[in-house]
Amino acid sequence: MTQQPLVIVGGGMAGALLALLLRRHGAESVVLIESHPLSLPDAPPLTPSFDARSTALSAGTLAVLDDLGLGNAVREHAAAIGTVHVSRQSHLGMTRMSAVEEGVEQLGAVVENRWLGFVLLGALFADKGIEVRAPDTLSGIRRQEGGYQVALASGEMLETPLLIAADGARSKTREWLGISARDHDTGHDALIANLSLKASHNGIAYERFLNDGPLALLPLPDQRMALVWTGPRAQVNQWMALTDNEALAQLQGRCPADAPRLGGIGERQRYPLILTDACAQVVPHGVVVGNAAHTLHPVAGQGFNLAVRDLLALAQTVGGNPDPGSLATLQAYAQKREKDQALIGQASRWVPELFRVQQPLFAHSRQLGLVAMDILPGLRSGFAKRAMGL
Ligand SMILES: Cc1cc2nc3c(=O)[nH]c(=O)nc-3n(C[C@H](O)[C@H](O)[C@H](O)COP(=O)(O)OP(=O)(O)OC[C@H]3O[C@@H](n4cnc5c(N)ncnc54)[C@H](O)[C@@H]3O)c2cc1C
Repeated sequence: MTQQPLVIVGGGMAGALLALLLRRHGAESVVLIESHPLSLPDAPPLTPSFDARSTALSAGTLAVLDDLGLGNAVREHAAAIGTVHVSRQSHLGMTRMSAVEEGVEQLGAVVENRWLGFVLLGALFADKGIEVRAPDTLSGIRRQEGGYQVALASGEMLETPLLIAADGARSKTREWLGISARDHDTGHDALIANLSLKASHNGIAYERFLNDGPLALLPLPDQRMALVWTGPRAQVNQWMALTDNEALAQLQGRCPADAPRLGGIGERQRYPLILTDACAQVVPHGVVVGNAAHTLHPVAGQGFNLAVRDLLALAQTVGGNPDPGSLATLQAYAQKREKDQALIGQASRWVPELFRVQQPLFAHSRQLGLVAMDILPGLRSGFAKRAMGL
């Protein structure tokens, strides 16, 4: 008997990867619905997920891509992270995590989202078991025996034993599944831009805690770096208004002294930092993933990497399962992922807060923390392994 397809709403980073993982782990057919046109094979896509940002992929995420046969294609236009350099503006204390010390080839790699999209969507279109409906969206869902009836805006009707919401932080599908979400507006925005350099970055990623928010410089191919700076909205407004030369000068002054000299800055874009947590991630015949489940502060580049660990666990649990929507099956998945999600979620919420507090005692303990990490390789190594998703 032919099984009804598993239906994913949202063809962004999470939805696209999940479709491939479900097939890899035994799903006969998957339908992926995306509201934006996906313009392959001519050019990399441009959607809210596959946009001008770059993403630091952990070693764990690269291993997942390798298993799908996509790792080499991603690496073709990615820069390896050999070292992570963590420091605080105008304070002593710095720590380095290095691939050599961890005994791995690289701590991770940085790829531009549009290239990642090109690789993922190329694999999606090549898989006969995946049907991509784009541009299309849901116009409604109805619960029925054994799953959901799904109405598409294009007028078609689908039946599925498992409806998966991967349609981002403002997920409409999550709402339809009856799952509420908590939003926390941090009052901060993330500002991103690509930077060209006057010298090589040598595979070093810089994480610098400034008084007004964390700044990350991630290595990119061709002597470039990706900037992610998060700060109060009013200050981001000021940054957006600076000329390129002014922005470059201000930025260089905020970088660690041993960071490479900056040569140029590309278009600046901003993302409001509203952190979202779904109040539940599974219901009978329904599950939420990616940003629809949890939207993290980009401070340590963990949002997608955490989602990938969820997606792998979900695909392993439901991929070849004859009853993929049973609540017991979905609860087993949710339970398996609870601890990792809680740990990473809390860390990405508290780390920027901790570094924002200005009292001398806090400043001192932060400094001690960085120094302790540098002196105690075990502590640093544990942190590195978690960040690498291993
Ligand atoms: C500045 C910044 C930097 C980041 N850097 C990193 C990093 O270095 N490393 C890391 O791990 N993570 C990083 N993240 C987090 C990462 O971007 C997210 O984890 C990732 O985008 C989640 O993907 P998603 O597919 O769940 O959601 P989204 O990217 O929001 O995609 C949702 C998709 O659903 C589609 N959609 C929406 N509504 C509908 C609908 N009704 N019907 C059909 N389709 C719909 C959208 O068009 C979109 O394609 C960063 C985030 C930010 C903001």
